[in-house]
Amino acid sequence: MKKTRLRIFTLFMTLLGILFLTGCSLSVNFSTPSAPASTAAPLDKAQIYYLDVGQGDAELIRLPTGENILIDAGLKSGDDQLTAYLKELGISRLDILIATHPHADHIGGMEAVVQNFEIGEIYMPKIADDQVPTTVTYTRLLEAIQAKNMKINQAKAGETIFDNGSAVLEILAPNSIEYKDLNDYSIVTKLTYGNNRFLFMGDAEKTSEIEMLLEGYDLSCDILKLGHHGSSTSTTDRFLAAASPSAAIVSCGRDNDYGHPHKETMEKLNSRRVTVYRTDTDGTILAESDGNTYTVTTNLTSVSKDA
Ligand SMILES: [Zn+2]
Repeated sequence: MKKTRLRIFTLFMTLLGILFLTGCSLSVNFSTPSAPASTAAPLDKAQIYYLDVGQGDAELIRLPTGENILIDAGLKSGDDQLTAYLKELGISRLDILIATHPHADHIGGMEAVVQNFEIGEIYMPKIADDQVPTTVTYTRLLEAIQAKNMKINQAKAGETIFDNGSAVLEILAPNSIEYKDLNDYSIVTKLTYGNNRFLFMGDAEKTSEIEMLLEGYDLSCDILKLGHHGSSTSTTDRFLAAASPSAAIVSCGRDNDYGHPHKETMEKLNSRRVTVYRTDTDGTILAESDGNTYTVTTNLTSVSKDA
């Protein structure tokens, strides 16, 4: 009796050993030769992160086809956190990098982004000569780009800068060569993923909004990243009517000095029953689209130091 039990036990252990070894060798065979450089798991949905970078702007688009697009990079004070955040997501390459306009709350973290990631194409607006910033932040960004021997693409409204068959990114602004305010030079982009659309306004204000309306662009979208952090100088009634979003995003810092988002803008959104998400109260916001419907997740890890 004892012997039989021992034999069964030995047989069981041997089988277990074979299974274990086979399992190991199989997994080694499958994973080693074809291991991708990135550790990121493949996505089944398009993801749009409205990153909480305090009183600034940064949005990350990740596509199931593997491309990553970054629109703005927040403040200089958050550059380490931003690069760490992107690396934690498994990102090593940004296929498109957009600096909507050269204000420090949008390009502050971009020098570090250029230095830390492989970059495909960089887009910036062409600024009139007498308005080109002389700030350290802007100069250092240009130097970082130059150090990589990269050239800057000037954003042209009406141009499609990305189209892989399932996702399309179009530039809708700036439509003029000169503006009074740097904010209106903002590159405005529209992402179309299946039937879902996302508008990214940068800090574009009334002047640029009127131009986009006059150009006759299709401005309708599901999610509108509000211009200029929800300031009353953006999101005019006509523009909001044309965009007709179901949700709006305000990217702003907690208790910021500008009173962003402004009451007037919030009232407009409320009266149109637009769901509002704010990075100051909702942290990093993630929208995910399967091409037909989208879902929103809030309170993801903040990137900002003061959040
Ligand atoms: Zn701004």
